[in-house]
Amino acid sequence: MNQKKILFPILLLLCVLFSQITVAQDIDYVKSIVRKLGSPRFHGRGYVKNGDADAARFLSKEMKKAGLAAYTPNYFQPYSFAINTFPSRVNVMLDGKRLKPGKDFVVHPSVQTRQKSYSLIWLDDTVSHINSVYSQIDTNAFIDKMLVVPEGLKNAYKNGIPGVDALVQRVSGNMWWHVSGGRKTSGYVILKMNDKILSRDNHAIAIDIENKFIEKHEAVNLIGYVEGCKQPDSFFVFVAHYDHLGQMGKHAMFPGASDNASGTATVLDLGHFYQDHPEKAYYTMVFILVSGEEAGLLGSTFFTENPLIPLEKVKFVINLDMVGAGSEGLSVVNALQYPDAADLIDSINNEKHYFSDIRRGGESCNSDHCPFYQKGVPAFFLFTRGAENHEYHTITDTYDRLPFTAYQQLFGILTDFVDRLSQKPNYRKN
Ligand SMILES: [Zn+2]
Repeated sequence: MNQKKILFPILLLLCVLFSQITVAQDIDYVKSIVRKLGSPRFHGRGYVKNGDADAARFLSKEMKKAGLAAYTPNYFQPYSFAINTFPSRVNVMLDGKRLKPGKDFVVHPSVQTRQKSYSLIWLDDTVSHINSVYSQIDTNAFIDKMLVVPEGLKNAYKNGIPGVDALVQRVSGNMWWHVSGGRKTSGYVILKMNDKILSRDNHAIAIDIENKFIEKHEAVNLIGYVEGCKQPDSFFVFVAHYDHLGQMGKHAMFPGASDNASGTATVLDLGHFYQDHPEKAYYTMVFILVSGEEAGLLGSTFFTENPLIPLEKVKFVINLDMVGAGSEGLSVVNALQYPDAADLIDSINNEKHYFSDIRRGGESCNSDHCPFYQKGVPAFFLFTRGAENHEYHTITDTYDRLPFTAYQQLFGILTDFVDRLSQKPNYRKN
């Protein structure tokens, strides 16, 4: 009889004995991981200065420290994608005054290298549809001009305006940046600018932008696991993306503490927990940290196309993305698709009063649960809500602005959900 054969019945017994113990999260560990991931050392975990690759090496060491088992060397699953980047100059001058990147303006991720000065032409504030643009301006006379577009003209920044090769859209709220529009470059110059600094008294905008298009950006997902003690050939997956927007030029770094150092740290903490309490791992617990989310769910899509575990044996996937708040409750994307599993979360919450409110959402392909769900794997996306953190996709999504309001509660509901799902693994899909 080998050692494994003696150990297995003992573990089975422990499965039963310890299924009711209360669990210990480690908020200090989670905070230390978020602080590190959000620091300048990782350059916003994007595609400049090897930010995402350095973060992957760091996370690999953390998975190793946690004692997680690996399917591949260093837990790595490599893949690559094309992406436009801004590693150096992103300078914008408004009437000779240099603006602050990330605070005063952002550039569309598809923009190419350009040094040019433009005089400004203003659209009426009331223009809300692209057709009205052409009745106000003559695109043939649009040379060396930049069109100033009101906030209400939907998608002007996102998609550009045909015939207008330079535009700036005014925005009144937070200066959000995205990079998913940077899978290819365009000939247009498109900016978003803070409404407070741009007025009709201004005459000219000069830009000096340098892009670097990377045809084959090397990226990795990380996958660790703890073998299940009852049904090791079935799986429960926690996934979070560790990449973020990186840098828009030398001076604007997007730290991504909430998005998604918070989810990454939570998955590592869960990894520690199940490794330390293997008797709680009824199924094999799989911990996946994916990259390329901000570029368009590329890491999770690659994993589901090239899974290291049989997807049909996955009982459930929980995706954690932006989980550092919680004063206003917890949201469950895909709750309407899996009502029994959503009921389970509600019943745990009613019993233990973790969150003031659990909101059920429908399907939404807005984070890394989506590629799993599209492959028919039951998957929820959980995020916390609360006015205490509204730094989404800004340069101020920093560690010190992340309150970790309901971390203990989040950890409790997640581990209770795993426990109860292990007892009642069959649920309806709508
Ligand atoms: Zn994001």
